[in-house]
Amino acid sequence: MSEPVISLENVEVHFENERLLDFGNDPETVRAVDGVSVDVAENDVLSLVGESGCGKTTLGKTAIGLQRPTHGSVKYRGHDIWEIREGNSDADLEWSDIRTSLQIIHQDPGSALNPNRRLLSILSEPLRQVNPDLSKSEKRNRIYSLLERVGMNPAADFADRYPHQLSGGEKQRVALCRALLMNPDVILADEAISALDVSLRVEMMDMMLDLQAEFDTSFVFISHDLSNARYFSSHGNGKIGVMYLGQLAEIGPAEQVINEPQHPYTEVLRWATPDLSLDDHGEMPMRKIDIPDPINPPSGCRFHTRCPKAREACTRANPTAYEHGEQRVACFREDDTHEYWDSPELTDD
Ligand code: SF4
Repeated sequence: MSEPVISLENVEVHFENERLLDFGNDPETVRAVDGVSVDVAENDVLSLVGESGCGKTTLGKTAIGLQRPTHGSVKYRGHDIWEIREGNSDADLEWSDIRTSLQIIHQDPGSALNPNRRLLSILSEPLRQVNPDLSKSEKRNRIYSLLERVGMNPAADFADRYPHQLSGGEKQRVALCRALLMNPDVILADEAISALDVSLRVEMMDMMLDLQAEFDTSFVFISHDLSNARYFSSHGNGKIGVMYLGQLAEIGPAEQVINEPQHPYTEVLRWATPDLSLDDHGEMPMRKIDIPDPINPPSGCRFHTRCPKAREACTRANPTAYEHGEQRVACFREDDTHEYWDSPELTDD
């Protein structure tokens, strides 16, 4: 196995949240990410899914060095990103190199495109950074050919436009072009297709995957929609990581996670995603609907207040990740010898 491009080990991101109208008390701690270990390999596709507030965006931003972890390490090709960012590393690598290699595209691409500049100028900027020796015409040719590659024809016409003259889908294509012109190792696509019309989503995902192979890059694809995550990771031969309240409940090859979910929470997400066209759409496999407060998450396994398989032992300890073939699953049921099996069932009474 070659060294991962990004490696997160036991990462925590906790935010202090000042309580309004509650001066004098200690701030509350939001455990946005709590003890996550995950790697992103070369040419990898990793989709992170989960409900709003589960920490997937914070984890993604931490993976590309935009968010400092409060505990644990985030490494780029074996080098601690934050030691490099803060000048405490002997590595022959600058933060600016890493920043260039780890790109992001947002849900709202318009916010990242300068409204006062034409596309040719916006897209020339990354080329200036990565290939300062390119002539003006070489830059223009590269930009035109990439615009054509993402379906923006005629390229010269689009290159001459301002961002406000583009549709949402076209802006997202420009954001993708801009990220690719940096020759990145990893692109974090943070809900990058969520704002697009349903009809455009598959087209955009196909394009991202085609370009991934061409540009030799990896994707961390964040989505609240399991069917999109499935499409992206399955077609990219990648993985799905399911997050719940700041932790990774399950991770594994996309089709295995969808067809043979091992974590009870993955079963809930699967049930709640009718687009997956699964046969066994019976009763919702969950006890309570309410999402617990991330400031005060449940003791033990965080899913125990909603899990239909929870037992008393689940309230006492937080399960670590167990290997299940190629999947990793944070549930005591993976351990045949765990005290879980002799423990009484939890009910809502
Ligand atoms: S450890 Fe217990 S509560 Fe948590 S997912 Fe497994 S069975 Fe459910």
